[in-house]
Amino acid sequence: MSKIPTRSDKEIIFLWLFFPIVIILYLVYKFPTLFVPLEEVKNTFYFFGKSTSFWYATVYTAIVCYFSLRVIIRGINPYRAGVVKPISTYQRAKFLSIFFSQLLLFYLIPFILPYFQEGREFFNDSYHAVNKDAYIYIYNGFTSVGGLIYIFFIVPILAWLVGKRYCSWFCACGNLAEAVGSTTWGQQWVRNYTPRSKMAIKLEWLQFLILIFVLAYGLLLFLDMWQIFISESLITALYNFQVFAIDFMFGAIIGVGAYPLLGTRIWCRYGCPLAQMMKLFGKFSLSQARIQANSDCRGIGECSTVCPMGIDVKSFAYNKKGIYGLTQTPCISCGSCISACPTQALAFKTIFSKRS
Ligand code: SF4
Ligand code: SF4
Ligand code: SF4
Repeated sequence: MSKIPTRSDKEIIFLWLFFPIVIILYLVYKFPTLFVPLEEVKNTFYFFGKSTSFWYATVYTAIVCYFSLRVIIRGINPYRAGVVKPISTYQRAKFLSIFFSQLLLFYLIPFILPYFQEGREFFNDSYHAVNKDAYIYIYNGFTSVGGLIYIFFIVPILAWLVGKRYCSWFCACGNLAEAVGSTTWGQQWVRNYTPRSKMAIKLEWLQFLILIFVLAYGLLLFLDMWQIFISESLITALYNFQVFAIDFMFGAIIGVGAYPLLGTRIWCRYGCPLAQMMKLFGKFSLSQARIQANSDCRGIGECSTVCPMGIDVKSFAYNKKGIYGLTQTPCISCGSCISACPTQALAFKTIFSKRS
């Protein structure tokens, strides 16, 4: 096993600040009443009259947009270690999609546009508890028509058409992972700390357990909504578990806070139930995003090293000379492996090509 390079002094100082700041910020953002009574939240944490959600989205979007735009403007392939190579058309399109989806779908439309439409005062938000029901938790599909259409129709069609490109081109969580993964430190975190052992791959079943949990929880919410089965205590217990264990601890603290310790895709690989569902739908698709190796593969293994999902790409490419994709792996079609390969041995198969 290759030795993990030591972190620079600058990075160590950054991490000493990063870990406590991330924990405190997420605590304030998601559980402000731990610090002040409910009626004081607005006065204490709403800076310039804007909600904590607004500030969180502003910082998040600034990070994503800055780093994705930087890749586009510099035009340098961020996945090749030690050599300066131009960025591929695929990567340019991916980072453009990340930039615009983050800016429009996850910032301007939800946080800025409503003020112009409704003529509300911009710097005077009323108090709203932070929404901890992200669509990726799937149970929204049981409690709203929009959620139902999105999760049980749009997502399967997307998985059928483009595999899990959704995760590397559009999803807000994935946008941050890709943007940070394009930086020098982000690349080192992905390369050096993404769990890649056999045990780490086996542990991916954890995501399936979370899928079962959110499906069961969603069904319970649906039955409760229609007063078919009412159990307030059970729903409260499951809600608390979802909010603290899944949303806060796993999704936020580990999902984002552990980037420097475990790479950028721990939540996507072990947590996100939507990813597991896409994988299930992907099994039934006629075509999907797949990667194929050609005879130029030399077994160098850069492809495995840069994969943020911990996939042993080399064993598909070199040993099996095979095609790999959603059926066999949690691949998100980020294309890092293709961009990292020094012999151009990898390429995406055409999206609509027949399954083989
Ligand atoms: S795995 Fe889930 S959280 Fe990660 S990018 Fe895909 S949908 Fe988003
Ligand atoms: S696909 Fe490229 S990077 Fe991966 S093992 Fe083969 S030559 Fe090396
Ligand atoms: S196998 Fe390649 S395209 Fe798939 S997630 Fe890993 S690096 Fe990205």
